[in-house]
Amino acid sequence: MRNFSYSRAATSQEALTLIGTIPNAKFLGGGTNLVDLMRENIEQPDALIDVTRLPSAGIAESATGGVSIAAGVKNTAVANHHLIRQRYPVLSQAILFGASGQIRNMATVGGNIMQRTRCYYFYDQSAKCNKRNPGSGCDAIDGFNRIHAILGGSEQCIATHPSDMCVALAALDAMVRINGPGGERAIPLNEFHCLPGDTPHVESLLKPNELIASIELPSLPFARQSLYRKVRDRASYAFALVSIAAALEIENGRIRNVRVALGGVAPKPWRAYEAENVLSGAQADLELFRRAADAELSHARGFRHNNFKIELAKRTMASVLSELAGDNQ
Ligand code: SF4
Repeated sequence: MRNFSYSRAATSQEALTLIGTIPNAKFLGGGTNLVDLMRENIEQPDALIDVTRLPSAGIAESATGGVSIAAGVKNTAVANHHLIRQRYPVLSQAILFGASGQIRNMATVGGNIMQRTRCYYFYDQSAKCNKRNPGSGCDAIDGFNRIHAILGGSEQCIATHPSDMCVALAALDAMVRINGPGGERAIPLNEFHCLPGDTPHVESLLKPNELIASIELPSLPFARQSLYRKVRDRASYAFALVSIAAALEIENGRIRNVRVALGGVAPKPWRAYEAENVLSGAQADLELFRRAADAELSHARGFRHNNFKIELAKRTMASVLSELAGDNQ
């Protein structure tokens, strides 16, 4: 690991001043991903600016009836908070399916959003990787690609986004609030992460001198009926092969409101807009859920070791929607 300097910001303004004046500096939250990457020399900052002690409003109801979560709140605290468990159970479940208890106790919300892919080749300095070394190639496309993307990838990169939490945030239409030298701005989480295209090293719309301040969850009463399911190779401490976050409201047998997002299948949390279009207003039954899943996965592209994910994603989506509908056929 390369040597680096360490400083701790007392305020958001101080953090922004430091990141604007220290060359090649990075913000440090819980460090559960960044420090791993520094140990492997994938990330090589000259300075870390600790932002875990900034003044924080924690988790609170917002003026619009939603919930605001400060970026420095630990994942465990979010999962266990009564407002999240009651109003957005899908978010609580998604976080508890992620990583291990120890990691969730350290990891922050802001860091979770910014975590980088777990593609094996990204971590292997001897491998070709366009994300780590732009223009070098991608060893995953013709290599061992069991954990890789079936949606949203490109000829340059097929890495998946590793977060469970972000899949729930995508389904819930969360907003990411950001502080920067130009003031505050907000980006919908569904637009925050970038698809790889020809620039897989560009992973989000966050600029290097900006700091995530909070996540805003909108008022979404029907999200009390929501569910996260994660399919993985072992029962704990494994990344998703496929995951589904969904919320569903049915009135007189028809779907009044629905949100669906997928994890483990794309370079970003994948909001299932095509599935939602099929579902909205339709008679809720298993045949419909299967048709919606088929529509969403119709553009999927499998590779040598991950083709199974296409059918797995369809079946998992239909099963989760059936469970939310109380229709376990
Ligand atoms: Fe790198 Fe992306 Fe290819 Fe993995 S899939 S080796 S992260 S370019």
